[in-house]
Amino acid sequence: MKTRLFTPGPVMVPEKVLLKMAEPVFHHRTPEYENLFAKINEKLKKFFMTDGDVFTLASSGTGAMETAVVNVLARGDKAVTVRGGKFGERWDEICRAYGIETVQVDVEWGRAVDPEEIKNALDANPGVKAVFTTHSETSTGVLTDLKAIGEVMRDYDAALVTDAVSGIGAHELRPDEWGIDIVVSGSQKTIMLPPGLGFISVSKDSWKRIERSDLPKYYWDIMKYKKSIEMNQNPFTPPITLLVGLNESLDIILGEGLENLWARHALAAQAMRAGVRALGLDLFPTNPSNVLSAISIPEGIDGGLLVKTLKKNGIFPAGGQAHLKGKIIRISHIGYLDEYDVLSALSGLELSLKEVGFSFNSGDSVKAAQEVLADR
Ligand SMILES: *Cc1c(COP(=O)(O)O)cnc(C)c1O
Repeated sequence: MKTRLFTPGPVMVPEKVLLKMAEPVFHHRTPEYENLFAKINEKLKKFFMTDGDVFTLASSGTGAMETAVVNVLARGDKAVTVRGGKFGERWDEICRAYGIETVQVDVEWGRAVDPEEIKNALDANPGVKAVFTTHSETSTGVLTDLKAIGEVMRDYDAALVTDAVSGIGAHELRPDEWGIDIVVSGSQKTIMLPPGLGFISVSKDSWKRIERSDLPKYYWDIMKYKKSIEMNQNPFTPPITLLVGLNESLDIILGEGLENLWARHALAAQAMRAGVRALGLDLFPTNPSNVLSAISIPEGIDGGLLVKTLKKNGIFPAGGQAHLKGKIIRISHIGYLDEYDVLSALSGLELSLKEVGFSFNSGDSVKAAQEVLADR
C-alpha cells in the first residue's frame, strides 16, 4: 500500500530529495561540505526571513526548543509561557527542568492567545526575561497572531521566542519585522525532510542575552555553533545526509517562493475545511492554522476507531493528544502534498466515516473542496 502521511510531522518527502539523500556519505571536514553548508545557511536565512543566524542542530524540534531556553535565559530569570496546547506546555516543562520560574498564561485549548493576556502577564511580573509562544499549536490546530504579540512586546525588555516547528513555511512569519527574537523549527514539517534536524534562528539583538546566559549546557551551547558557522562548520558531526536533503528541499521551497508557498497552504486548508463542513462536521479551533485541520469528532462516533479506520483505508492522520484523545482527528496539509492529496484525504475520510456509522451524502466533501479549488 502507498504511504499517505497526513500527520503534522513526519510528512511525505519529495522524490528529488530522497534521491539526493541516497548518494554516498562524504566527510564533513572538507571544502566540499563547507561549500554545501555555506549555501544551506544562506538559504535558511531566506526561509526564516531573517538577517540573523540560523543554526542547524542534530535533533528533533524539541532539541531546538531546549536550545532556545538554555541560551536565552540565565539562572534566576523569570519567563512567561503561553499554554494553549501540548507544545505550549512543553515550553513550560523545559523552563522548569532548568529551574526557571514561569508565569503561565493558560489559554483554553482551541483558542488563540490574546496579545492583551501577554501584556497583562508582563505588567503583573516586571523583570520577565522571555515570552515563549507557539506559532501554530499542532495539538489544537490554532494559529497565533505573532505580529500582534510582537507589537505589544515592543515596550518590554523580554525576548519573544516562538515555536514555529510546524508553522514556518505554511504561514507568513517575519521575525525581524515583527520583533521575534528566536524562532525554532524542525525538518519533518513544512521543510519536507525526514525527522532529525532542529533549527534555531537568532536575531542580532539576542546575542547580549546569550552572552549573559549561565544555564547549564554543552551540546546545546549556541556560542559553539556561532564560532563554527563562521567557518561554515559545525562543532560536532552534522547529520550530513539530512543536510544534503535540506539543500535540495530549500531549493524546491525557495524556487516556489515563500508567498506562493503560503498561498498554497492556505488554499489546501480552505479546500479541506470546506470539505469537512460539507459533511456537517466542525473544526475544533476558533482560529485555525493552515498547517492542519483539527476536526471535532461528532457525538456518538468513536474517535479512536475513526483514526484506526482511516489508517486501514490508507490515509494516515493523527488523533487528539492529552484530553483531546478520541475527541478530535487531525489531518495536515503540510509536506509534499498537493490539491489532489487533499481530495484523496477527504475521500478517505468519507469512506471511513461511513464505516464507523456517521451519515452524510456521499461525495459532498470532495465536491465542496473541488469547488474551492476551481474558484481560486
Ligand atoms: C512537531 C512539533 C514540535 C517538535 O516535536 P519533535 O517531536 O521534537 O520534533 C514542536 N512544536 C510543534 C508546534 C510541533 O508541531
